[in-house]
Amino acid sequence: MIKYLSSNKIPLSGINFDGADRHRIQDTVMDKMTKEQRSRCMSKIRGRDTKPELLVRKYLFSRGYRYRLNSPRLPGKPDIVLRKYRTAIFVNGCFWHGHEGCRYFVLPKSNAEFWRGKIERNRERDRTELRLLAEMGWHTIVVWECQLRPAVRRQTLESLDYTLNHIYLEDRRIISRFG
Ligand SMILES: [Zn+2]
Repeated sequence: MIKYLSSNKIPLSGINFDGADRHRIQDTVMDKMTKEQRSRCMSKIRGRDTKPELLVRKYLFSRGYRYRLNSPRLPGKPDIVLRKYRTAIFVNGCFWHGHEGCRYFVLPKSNAEFWRGKIERNRERDRTELRLLAEMGWHTIVVWECQLRPAVRRQTLESLDYTLNHIYLEDRRIISRFG
């Protein structure tokens, strides 16, 4: 299920609501991986040349959503920003962002301590960025790479659509209640 962190602090039914950890890719770390490690990480999860982020963007666009990419003004440079929904979407790689309990998050046997530390720092930074965004009144949605595997992709994307609609309506409901 799609994880969604609301700036309104209101739990939404039907959606896995919690302080979704999101974890930021570091290109520099990527470069340090051997070619094998890298392709092992990636090919397990998706077909070649299918960027997870691109899948999400294409879907959103086809559903009529309009967005900006990698907005540099927001904490963590969110991958996709939907201003109208005041929502930032992060598409996270399971390894680099340390997807908790995910079978695609497996530390390499060699240099395990190095990777553990590295990924823990990524997670820490992700948590900070999500918190900052919430403080600025932004909703955040984290889509994990493993949620975009062909078998579950459709369900994930539909859930994303549903979540965005919910956010939109919920925000307006709150405004009309207090406005
Ligand atoms: Zn995962």
